[in-house]
Amino acid sequence: MKSLKINLRFILALLTILNISGFAQAQRPSDHVVLISIDGFRPDFYLEEKWPAPNLKQMVKEGTHATGVRGVFPSVTYPSHTTIITGVMPATHGIYYNSPFDPAQKTNRWYWETDLIKSKTLWHAVKDAGLKSASFIWPVSVGAPVDYNIPEFWDAAEGHGGVEPMREQENPAGLLAEMEREVLGKLNNRTFNGDYLSKEDRTGEMAAYVLEIYKPNLITVHLIATDHFQHMEGREGAMVYKSVAAADRAIGKIMEAAHRAGISDRTTFIVVGDHGFVDIHTALSPNVWLKDAGLLEDKADRGKWKATFHTSGASAFLHIKDMKDKKTVERVRKILNNQPQEVRDLFRIVEKEELKEIGADPNAVLALAPKPGVSFSGSASGEGVKPATGGTHGFFPDFKDIETGFVAWGAGIEQGRQIKEMGLEDVAPEVARLLNLDMKMPEARAYSESEK
Ligand SMILES: [Zn+2]
Repeated sequence: MKSLKINLRFILALLTILNISGFAQAQRPSDHVVLISIDGFRPDFYLEEKWPAPNLKQMVKEGTHATGVRGVFPSVTYPSHTTIITGVMPATHGIYYNSPFDPAQKTNRWYWETDLIKSKTLWHAVKDAGLKSASFIWPVSVGAPVDYNIPEFWDAAEGHGGVEPMREQENPAGLLAEMEREVLGKLNNRTFNGDYLSKEDRTGEMAAYVLEIYKPNLITVHLIATDHFQHMEGREGAMVYKSVAAADRAIGKIMEAAHRAGISDRTTFIVVGDHGFVDIHTALSPNVWLKDAGLLEDKADRGKWKATFHTSGASAFLHIKDMKDKKTVERVRKILNNQPQEVRDLFRIVEKEELKEIGADPNAVLALAPKPGVSFSGSASGEGVKPATGGTHGFFPDFKDIETGFVAWGAGIEQGRQIKEMGLEDVAPEVARLLNLDMKMPEARAYSESEK
């Protein structure tokens, strides 16, 4: 009997050594990570009873969640999403805003292309590991090294939301047509529209279909309706409740797909956001002040200009034409400080040292961070101070309402754990841990180790 036992053990050990791929699998806590970002995701969506989010609330109960996640500056969509998939801050990954600052002219283009990211992304790391990835409507994903990719992209002239510009950037060619045939129906302005909830439904179906049929190891998915309706209606709008329900339903579709594909026990869901939201009452246009002082002209190329504010939601970054022009910077400071006290009280100046600390655009001379309730506009025409309604983000990420959320559930995730302190840069290390990926992220810490 004894020799038989030893022989069995020997055979098992030999099998483990020979079956190298099986061995690698055993080392990974998870085989499939579904990384979902809900744009404008707030922790109260899963912490408070009133929000209709049964899937998210199940994940909180059976998994790990954060009470709040500190974002980046500016707390807007593209820099934030790029921090999520690189584990580094904007100063390092190079996606400083949604739209690049172009000294030559004001432009409508956004940071669409992955080539603009200066750091290694999770998609690159997945590819390096010989694994497969998929991505749907993710920011800065045009041309990404992703096996099944429908990137977020639109024609600058046509505006946001067109299906065909996006189709032209798909990978592989024909993926969208295949999904239209098999699951989505024909995509058009009626069936895939960000002003309604139909885009949310279709995006969830895309991720669910590809997970079920192709079983990639990493899926990144971006759901956008909660952002749109919080901009329109503020934090507590009626449509915000419906969009939270729609995002939760999209997550449910992907959970069902994992179940049908028989990979539920080897799949992890991570739900994050890019920023929180703040209700606003006032909008400031600091470029109007610069125009009145003769530091720029109200033209697409800013005419003869010396200084301009590049605004990104509730943030404004000062750029000067000549980096050595200290005199102009002093003039701008004077203009800001000479505003009537009730206006000057609406924002603070974020100095270069603080920009460096938070990992923001290194090319900005300084930035303006408004009080909650106040937003910025980049316009150089009209009044410098105007009433505003709805909600916005972009704020310096140092208060509760601008924090986003984090929920993790499934393979490799601890049950019933609450994380009290976390930053957006801490998400990628968790995905890297789950899939055993090779990423260097010195600015982040794996949250799994942070509070133990
Ligand atoms: Zn966003």
